[in-house]
Amino acid sequence: MLKKTMTTDILIIGGGIAGIRAAIEAAEQHSDVVLVNKGQVGKDGAAVWMAGGGYQAAFNPPDSIDQHVEDTIKAGKYLNNQDLAMAFLKLAPDTVKDLTKWGARFAKKDGKFFQIKLPGETYPRSMSHSIIGESLGGEYRKVLPRQVRSHKEINILNDIFIVDLIGSGGKISGAVGLDVRSGEFVVIQAKETILATGGFMALFNLTTANPTLTGDGHGMAYRAGARMMDMEFIQFFPAATLWPRTVYRDHFPYTLLWRLRGIFYNAIGERFMERYFPIEKDFATREAMSRAIHREVKEGRGSANGGAYLSFRHLPRNLINVCLEDLKDNPFMQGLKEAGVDIREDAIEIGPAAHYVQGGCWVNERCETSLPGLYAVGELGSGGKDGADRLAGNALPFCMAMGYIAGKEAAQKATRDDLPGLNEAQVEEICSRAAEPFMRQDGVRPVKVKREIRDLMSRNMVYDRNKDELEEGLKELARIRQEELPRLYVSAKTERFNLEWVEALEVRNMLDIAEMSMRAALMREESRGLHQRSDFPEERKAWLKHIVIRMDKDGMNFTTEPVTFPLFKPMSDKANS
Ligand SMILES: Cc1cc2nc3c(=O)[nH]c(=O)nc-3n(C[C@H](O)[C@H](O)[C@H](O)COP(=O)(O)OP(=O)(O)OC[C@H]3O[C@@H](n4cnc5c(N)ncnc54)[C@H](O)[C@@H]3O)c2cc1C
Repeated sequence: MLKKTMTTDILIIGGGIAGIRAAIEAAEQHSDVVLVNKGQVGKDGAAVWMAGGGYQAAFNPPDSIDQHVEDTIKAGKYLNNQDLAMAFLKLAPDTVKDLTKWGARFAKKDGKFFQIKLPGETYPRSMSHSIIGESLGGEYRKVLPRQVRSHKEINILNDIFIVDLIGSGGKISGAVGLDVRSGEFVVIQAKETILATGGFMALFNLTTANPTLTGDGHGMAYRAGARMMDMEFIQFFPAATLWPRTVYRDHFPYTLLWRLRGIFYNAIGERFMERYFPIEKDFATREAMSRAIHREVKEGRGSANGGAYLSFRHLPRNLINVCLEDLKDNPFMQGLKEAGVDIREDAIEIGPAAHYVQGGCWVNERCETSLPGLYAVGELGSGGKDGADRLAGNALPFCMAMGYIAGKEAAQKATRDDLPGLNEAQVEEICSRAAEPFMRQDGVRPVKVKREIRDLMSRNMVYDRNKDELEEGLKELARIRQEELPRLYVSAKTERFNLEWVEALEVRNMLDIAEMSMRAALMREESRGLHQRSDFPEERKAWLKHIVIRMDKDGMNFTTEPVTFPLFKPMSDKANS
């Protein structure tokens, strides 16, 4: 198969918010940048384009950066890397200023940003769109691609699926990708590489994200030997729609949910949230509410389509009308209308869907990974910044801050470093392994294997995990790895735009991630935040540590790293051992 090669100062893999922010900063520091993306920047499956209305930045006293960090750490159940949370969140107000400078419209009142209070925030801290009811995702889609394209130092390569990282002289030195348009392999040599490939929510059947987010960066970083961490913490959003089908898998506008304070019912008409959360009731955190719905379903009280009913009937019609008027152009609300569903009368059915992942590369305050020459930012750049649960509206300021830091750091390093050499044998090996499913004449198609992995994750890696189910899941994963991975084949033999080939390449990443997550979940014998074990239902002090994973000569290696408390100490020691 044909190969083309290119060189650059900085290679950025992933054209979502974190990758774009890194590219802009590196270009402003006068580096040459190549930004590669699996789809087309701004028109692909990046999570940022789907973002709702959450963006936290502490602007207005009595709120403060310290308070923002403290709220983040409380939500994270004290498992956060506190230094990282502070290093990134202190930049949150600046990130809003950047977005505003580039044209993003945030609501203002009396000359100040107008901020609303989402669960877990001590003071109102979440920005909102200047047009009531508009989601901020559309705003990012408008300003970020435009801003990145305005820099001529940034060479944007769309439709390149990066397969694996390459290294030379003990340093990461770029990556090998498949140019989906031509079917050729592309070798990009770089002085510094920034990974920004987002999360791995596509490992679950029900997700609020796009099916393209298969955690490729997680897979390639792990295979290159980077330290990975917190892979057992996966966040579910409680209100992905199960019915009506016109809005299936879409998520109920989060800010509307809180504005109207919907009420959740189970199949026997019980307002069940108050049984789990007598104080917060239907206004608990997303993790808590997802867990409650999951339990109701497991115990046989789920709605007709396997979730819960969300109702607004308790509110006066004219109050709901005001919100409906604000949201009349919202596609979700239009979908409801199309289905003949009137939320003043009818409940919609919702269920917990994979929404965000806390696990990814270990990073430091400069966003460097454990591998020289490699940075990780955004959702993939975990570092333990979110701890055991993420506060709503924190992901995007984290992405913007990390992109800025990594872009700047990498650009500065690139002025000092030479371009590393090319390890031809390694490139050959990556290309021939990636070509295998394409060359094979029969076997198992990726669509089948992906479905098996998703079914497994959706059954065994959600809430109320337990030893038996996790072990059973790992056994099944081992079978898939042994029996199906070597037989993976692509039925269509055209080289150009062969998306089945891309799917085949995603499978290996999905398998590596599923195994890392399940084994970490099995190892963590406690319940904390997003990680809930039915056989270890308590939070345990002994588990105030991160699970760190690395590939070594014996395979997947697991160790632990204690959490430190430089800023905020756990308030109560309800932990038992
Ligand atoms: C529905 C939804 C709503 C959300 N709402 C909010 C919100 O209101 N507030 C908030 O703070 N957070 C929100 N989040 C979370 C937030 O949007 C994400 O955490 C954030 O966008 C992640 O940014 P990122 O740049 O790391 O990744 P992404 O924005 O997901 O971008 C990753 C990019 O990497 C590319 N890529 C992946 N693999 C490869 C590969 N192999 N080769 C090349 N390119 C690749 C992808 O195509 C994509 O462009 C939401 C998430 C979802 C799913």
